Amino acid sequence: MLNFEFKNPTKIIFGKGQIEKISKEIPPGAKVLLVYGGGSIKSNGVYDQVISALKGFEVLEFGGVPANPEYEVLMQALRVIKEENITYMLAVGGGSVIDGVKFLSAAAVFPGEHPWDILSKNIRTEWGLPFGSVLTLPATGSEMNSGAVITRAETQEKLGMGGPGLFPEFSILDPEVIKSIPKRQLANGITDAFTHVLEQYMTYPAGAHLQDRFSESIMQTLIEVGPKVIANPTDYEAAANFMWSCTMALNGLIQKGVPTDWAVHAMGHELTALFGIDHARTLAIIAPSHYRYNFEAKKEKLAQYGQRVWGVNEGSIEKIATVAIAKTEAFFHSMDIKTTLAEYTDDYQGTAEKISERFTERGWLGLGEHKTLSPSDVQKIVEMSY
Ligand code: NAP
Ligand code: FE
Repeated sequence: MLNFEFKNPTKIIFGKGQIEKISKEIPPGAKVLLVYGGGSIKSNGVYDQVISALKGFEVLEFGGVPANPEYEVLMQALRVIKEENITYMLAVGGGSVIDGVKFLSAAAVFPGEHPWDILSKNIRTEWGLPFGSVLTLPATGSEMNSGAVITRAETQEKLGMGGPGLFPEFSILDPEVIKSIPKRQLANGITDAFTHVLEQYMTYPAGAHLQDRFSESIMQTLIEVGPKVIANPTDYEAAANFMWSCTMALNGLIQKGVPTDWAVHAMGHELTALFGIDHARTLAIIAPSHYRYNFEAKKEKLAQYGQRVWGVNEGSIEKIATVAIAKTEAFFHSMDIKTTLAEYTDDYQGTAEKISERFTERGWLGLGEHKTLSPSDVQKIVEMSY
C-alpha cells in the first residue's frame, strides 16, 4: 500500500426529508447565492423545498448553469457575487451545478485578472468562498470531493481544477430527488460512478486489499441496483444505494494508498468539449479501448475484477481479463449506453489526431498510473474507440 493522507471535511446529511435542514448548516446572517441549472428543480419540487428551508436568510438566485458548466455563464454569476457581496453559496443540482459553484468559490477569491487561469495554469485552490450543496443527480461525487470540471465554449476546452478549499461544507443527499431524473441521466450517473471506481482501481496490484474490496463492492452495488433504479426510480431502497454508491465512488476514500489512472476521463473530456457528448457516455466510449490497449499493464487487476465483480473464473488470467472488458461493455449496453464514437457523431475522422495534438500542446505527455501514456498512445486509443 502506498503512503497517504486523508481528510474529507464535507458533512453528509442523507435521507428522506433532509432538505429542510439546510438552514442549520449555513452561518446565520449569510447572504446566500442559490445556484441551479436549467430548471429541473422548479418542476420536481426541490426548489420549493430549498426556498422554504432558506427562510430567514437573504437569498439571491442564479439559474441557468448548463450541463457541462460553462465558464462564460459562470462569469455572469461571478459578477453577481462581487456586486452583491455574497458570503455563501448553495448549489442545487447535479455535478454541473456543483462544479460550477466550485469554480465560483475559487474565482471569488482569485487575486488574478483572468479566472480561466485557475484552469489553464492548474492553480490549486487552498480556500474559497464557502458553499454547500443539495444533490439532485447521483453521478459525479462532486458533492463530497474537491474537484470540478469547467467548459469554455469559445475554445471548446474542458479542463479540471481543484484543491482542498473546494470541498462543499455540507451536502444534502435525499434519494427521493431521483424520482424525476430521466432514464438517460440515470444511466449516465451509473456509468460515470462505475468508471470513477475503474479509474482508481484498474491499475496494477498495490497490495491495498481493503481499497480493492471497497472498489469492488461499489461496482457490485451499482451492477445490482443500477437496473432497478432505471426500471423504477421510485424504488427508495435502490435509489438510496445508488446515491451513496456514487458519492463513495469519488469522495477520495478508495483512491488512498493506491495508484490511480484517470486517463479515461482526460480523453473523455475532449469528446464532450468537441462533440457535446454526455460526460458519462464519453467514458463508455473510451474505457473499453483503454483497457484493451493497456492490457498487459492492467491484466492482473482486470482478471481480479473479472473474478470478484463478474464471477468469471474459467481460464487463464488473460482469458478472464478479456471477458471482464467485454462484461463491462455489455453492462454499459444494457443501460442503452453506446460505446463507439461513430454511434454519436458522423464527424469523428481526425478526432484522435486532434486530441493527441491538444495533449502535446498542454504538455500532457505521460498519463495513467505509470505516467507513461504518451499523446501517440492517446491517439491510438481514441482511434480504437471510433
Ligand atoms: P448534470 O450535467 O449536472 O445534469 C444533467 C441533466 O440532469 C441536467 O439537464 C439537469 O437538469 C438534469 N437533472 C439533474 N437533477 C435532476 C432531477 N432530480 N430531476 C430531473 N432532471 C435532473 O449531470 P452530472 O452527470 O451530475 O454532471 C456532469 C458534469 O460533472 C460534467 O461536466 C462532468 O465533467 C462533471 N464531473 C465532475 C466530477 C467531479 O468530481 N467534480 C466527476 C465527474 C464528472 P437541470 O439543469 O434543469 O437541473
Ligand atoms: Fe466522471
